[in-house]
Amino acid sequence: KPRAVNVANFATVNERSLHAECNIVLLGCRGVGKSALTVKFLTRRFISEYDPFLEDTYTSEEIVDQQPVLVRIMDTADQDGPVNPERYLQWANVFLVVYSIDNKKSFEGCCQYLDIISQYNRGALHESPVLLLGNKLDMERYRQVSKADGSGLASRHGCLFREISACLDYRLVQQIFHDAIQEVRRE
Ligand code: GDP
Ligand code: MG
Repeated sequence: KPRAVNVANFATVNERSLHAECNIVLLGCRGVGKSALTVKFLTRRFISEYDPFLEDTYTSEEIVDQQPVLVRIMDTADQDGPVNPERYLQWANVFLVVYSIDNKKSFEGCCQYLDIISQYNRGALHESPVLLLGNKLDMERYRQVSKADGSGLASRHGCLFREISACLDYRLVQQIFHDAIQEVRRE
């Protein structure tokens, strides 16, 4: 039975002492590894079975480019495409749209999220940056989505693109989240 790991200990104890904040939301089809990436970033561990229905928001104090930032991460759990995007559109400072490189359908599923975000950004005062992430890079042998397809979709939507794996090097996962924070700071 999938277990929900308690990452509550990683919630901040001293929110008020920090001014810089960054809200990050992870979006994408079920099973692409949103929770695995979130938990890896927060705990440095890869959890292979995570409750697929659990949607939660976690908080962590990070130092990025020598500057402290209070990071909130919303790990969404849409079961079948985008539902109620209002819950994160205004909230998020940056969007991580995730697919799995070994699942073409999950790649196609990203388009809906990218469209919703593009539409929201067009009407917003400040554009929120988007990172398109091809996860499960360790599954190279079963790849169904080429790197060129990933970067092509990203450039059509004016967003950054990275391939990543939640079960390989922690520092690469950390770098993705730090890239996201740096993008927000650049705005
Ligand atoms: P979510 O529904 O997007 O939150 O996906 P999960 O994080 O629950 O992951 C779904 C499944 O994919 C689980 O069985 C994970 O163990 C597996 N998984 C997640 N990330 C990776 C990865 O980078 N590589 C591999 N091989 N499996 C992964
Ligand atoms: Mg999940």
